[in-house]
Parts: sequence; structure tokens; C-alpha cells
Amino acid sequence: MSVSSHVAVFTAHKPAPADAPRDLVGLSREEMAAAIAELGEPAFRARQLWRWIYGRGATDFAVMSDIAKPLRQRLAERFTIGRPAVAAAQASDDGTQKWLLRFADGHEVEAVHIPEDDRGTLCVSSQVGCTLTCRFCHTGTQRLVRNLQAAEIVGQVMHARGALDDWQRPEGDRRISNIVLMGMGEPLYNFDNVARALKIVMDHEGISISRRRITLSTAGVVPMMQRCGAELGVNLAVSLHAVTDELRDELVPLNRKYPIADLMAACRSYPGLNNARRITFEYVMLKGVNDTPADARALVRLIRGIPAKINLIPFNPWPGSAYDCATPEAIERFSRIVMDAGYASPVRAPRGRDILAACGQLKSESRREGSAALAARRIARETARQAARAAAG
Ligand code: SAH
Repeated sequence: MSVSSHVAVFTAHKPAPADAPRDLVGLSREEMAAAIAELGEPAFRARQLWRWIYGRGATDFAVMSDIAKPLRQRLAERFTIGRPAVAAAQASDDGTQKWLLRFADGHEVEAVHIPEDDRGTLCVSSQVGCTLTCRFCHTGTQRLVRNLQAAEIVGQVMHARGALDDWQRPEGDRRISNIVLMGMGEPLYNFDNVARALKIVMDHEGISISRRRITLSTAGVVPMMQRCGAELGVNLAVSLHAVTDELRDELVPLNRKYPIADLMAACRSYPGLNNARRITFEYVMLKGVNDTPADARALVRLIRGIPAKINLIPFNPWPGSAYDCATPEAIERFSRIVMDAGYASPVRAPRGRDILAACGQLKSESRREGSAALAARRIARETARQAARAAAG
């Protein structure tokens, strides 16, 4: 089944006029206070707004009952509380839900909710498309269109909380208890926006999801890993997938830039790492490619000394993918070797495969405007040339 049935083609995105209402979502607390101060309002108003927007999920100033009506009116003239639009929603037989979310310029990403017995995890995207072209990943077949803004990353969480009725639920009983940055894109290639968004998501007077319940997954953007740990303190997952540079160069082309030795060194010095806070190494199980006992033993040698757990991900197929999933026996054998060496080695249960919501299956139809514009220009040039030839002939 295709992710969405429509192909969107967009014309150039016009910047909003200077007097257009400004979106409050995505602003830091300080920025929100400054925006409110411009109206001549005291700082505590910003705190009230913050609580309404991020604590209670308000999308309309009219419901803000502790703010006087005339001020609500003025706020509504100057500001908006933005949410992405839902372009499509799908539910899997196993309870996983996927939303295709559309932003103001028409571009789209996917977000996925995965309910489990002891938690509910929301998987969010950080970019429209991706630059990494990992060979086994569906998103990797979609060129990078653009980075998401902080508001668009937070917007995925806000949308999902609304769709799952989480604004009403007390803490401890919420359907989104955990967040993983494992959707479309490479979060460490959009670090500033991801960091802004996560700071909003972690804020105690708002969505209030602790850094211990947030995991950022990277294919290994080595120079950004230190900052991620120091500034955000979230859990780190690293998409390893191969134990030799030769194979990893092919599966995860980013390895040509940041080879395994550099990646391991960055993991060893990830801030806050200890036995209670381990790095997760993700390892996709590809039949006949990286699934032998020798691979498992090499993996154990590679990560020796790093507080870690190894998440084995059965390969999730997608239309046109060139790999097969390793057999259950091969996965079991691999996992046993890693466990016997003293590492937790859970096999990630594929969730939402029937709606292409599992790891590495996400994609949207958004296309890069530049390439469409270039193509249009090329066609125009060719047409002019043909016309000139026709006139000369
Ligand atoms: N760019 C980041 C975030 C993506 S996270 C990263 O690479 O870590 C998504 C995880 O699913 C990554 O570990 C990715 O390598 C893995 N993945 C991609 N395609 C997959 C597939 N078809 N089957 C299973 N896992 C896949």
C-alpha cells in the first residue's frame, strides 16, 4: 500500500507578510515573553499562555478563561497557535497509528504512535526527506526537501496528543509517555531546530516529557553527538548496522565521512553515559548481509567497554527494497551471542508494517521545489531552442 495516494506539486513558497499573525508554537519561553512584552503585557501572561498551549493543548485564545476578553481578542489578532493539518491517518491491526501531517507550505512528514503494555511511544520526523541514502531505508529514497522548523517538530507531538486525547489525561496515564526521533530525516543534521523543539517538549509546565524518556537516533553525525548529550541529555541511539567500514560504507554512506572508529570514539565520550544510561546500537538484520555469528562476535568486540544495549531490528521491506529480512533463527543466534557477552539484545518487534509505519518505512510525496523549478526551466529552454530551430529551418 502506498503511503499516500496523491502527489503534491508545489509552487515557490512565499514568505508571510510582515504583519501576518505570528505563530506562538516553537518560541522558547523567553521569546514568548518578549512577544507578549511587545503588547505591553507583563511577563506572567507569557506563562499563562505557555500553560494553555503546552499544558492544556489550547488552539484558540477564546478558551483562555483567566485572560480578560479584550486581551484575548488582541492576542488573536497578533498571534496564532499553529498545528499541522492531517493529510492522511492510518491505523494498523496492531494498534499502531500513523499520520501524514502537512505544514503551511504544503510539505508533509509522517509521525507514528506505537502503543505497548508499559508505554506509548511517538516516533517523530526531523526533516522532509533525508540526505543519507541508507540502502535499506525507504525514507532514503526521498531526497531532502527541507529541515523541519522547531514548531513543526513540536507540532507533531501536539497533534498526536490531541488525536489520542492526551491533553485530558493525568501524567502517568498518557498514551504518549516516550518520544523517539526515529522518523524521517537525520536529527543531528537539523540540530538547532531539534534542540529547540525538545526543550519545549521537556519543559515541566508544558508537555513535560523527561529527557530519560526521549531517544534521538542518529546514523552517526560524529561532530554533533557531544552537543546532543551536553545540551539535551537525551538517550542516544546509533544506527550501526555493520561492523566493518567496507560494509557500512555501502549500507550507511555517511560512514565514508565518519568511519566506525570515529563513531565508536564519539560513543565512548557521550556525556552522561553510565550503566544506567546506555547507548542503544541499532542493527538491522539483513539476510546474508550482516547476520552471521561472526558478525555478532565482531559487534561485541567493537563495543567492548561502552555501556550499551543492542537493538536488533528485523528488516522491514518496502516497495522496491533490495534486501530480505534475516531468518528468525539467524536473529535468535545473533541475539544469543550478544547476550552471552553481557549485553541486552532485544529484538525490536516490527510494528505497523501493514501500513508502512515500521522503522525505515516512512516517506512522503513532498518533492524539492528547486528540482521542479529547474525541470520547468530546462523544459522552457528546450522549447525555446526547438522554436528557434523551427523558425530558422
Ligand atoms: N536518521 C536517523 C533516524 C532514523 S531512525 C538514523 O539513521 O538513526 C530509523 C531507524 O530505522 C534507523 O536505525 C534506521 O537505520 C532503521 N531502518 C531504516 N530502514 C529500515 C528498514 N527497512 N528496516 C528496519 N530498520 C530500518
